[in-house]
Amino acid sequence: MSRSVLIAANWKLNPNTLKGSQELASGVSEGIKDKKSSKVEVAFCVPAIYLQAIESIIAKSPIKLGGQNLYFEEKGAFTGEISAPMLTDIGAKYVVLGHSERRTLFAETDELISKKAQVSLKHNLIPIVCVGETLEQREKNETDSVIISQLNKSLKSVETNGDNLVIAYEPVWAIGTGKTCSSEEANRVCGLIRQGLAKLYSKEIAEKVLILYGGSVKSNTIKEQMQQSEIDGALVGGASLIVDEFVQLVLNAG
Ligand code: PEP
Repeated sequence: MSRSVLIAANWKLNPNTLKGSQELASGVSEGIKDKKSSKVEVAFCVPAIYLQAIESIIAKSPIKLGGQNLYFEEKGAFTGEISAPMLTDIGAKYVVLGHSERRTLFAETDELISKKAQVSLKHNLIPIVCVGETLEQREKNETDSVIISQLNKSLKSVETNGDNLVIAYEPVWAIGTGKTCSSEEANRVCGLIRQGLAKLYSKEIAEKVLILYGGSVKSNTIKEQMQQSEIDGALVGGASLIVDEFVQLVLNAG
């Protein structure tokens, strides 16, 4: 089956001015206009405070908007949080959930991520659910069991038709470190994730889910990564903050 390709930019806590975020979004939008393959979809997952400004810049382009997190309650007394209906209302298509930075720095559990994924789907937001092992777990040969456990628990009670779910395999040791997982190994783990999805749902559904690789993806790594049968795109941190680099990465992905 030929799946589409998704290149999702995860801006994290950057840039630190509105002007900087607008320049980044318009620079990338201009750079890929009329050049990127129609098979490749690009999404900007931006800090909540910039969602509206970025939405107005990309409104007339094919670039999609995404959040980086949400709270599982839909409204109420939860100071500082943003909800799924807020993200949908502002025009987001995606939301990143369970990024390793949220798991480690903000103590997010698989159980919490599952609640967030459920509310996302209820509001027509496509969750990009992140899973990945630490270096210690990899060295102890625990990669496969960690990935399957995170997948099963984060997707508990999450219903999907396959078109409305994205999984990102992000080995923690490769995020922001310049160390990429070899394409063959990334492909192997993405294949393991697809097998896990087939057990949770069905083979048909698993074949539809986009599985991204994330971890120091650059314009000069993406071609080889995209040649792998189980890798359907990338979740990109650092390289998504540099206009020329991200434009080149998107063009090389197609
Ligand atoms: C990420 O933030 O999800 C990520 C993969 O970051 P980087 O590309 O910088 O490693």
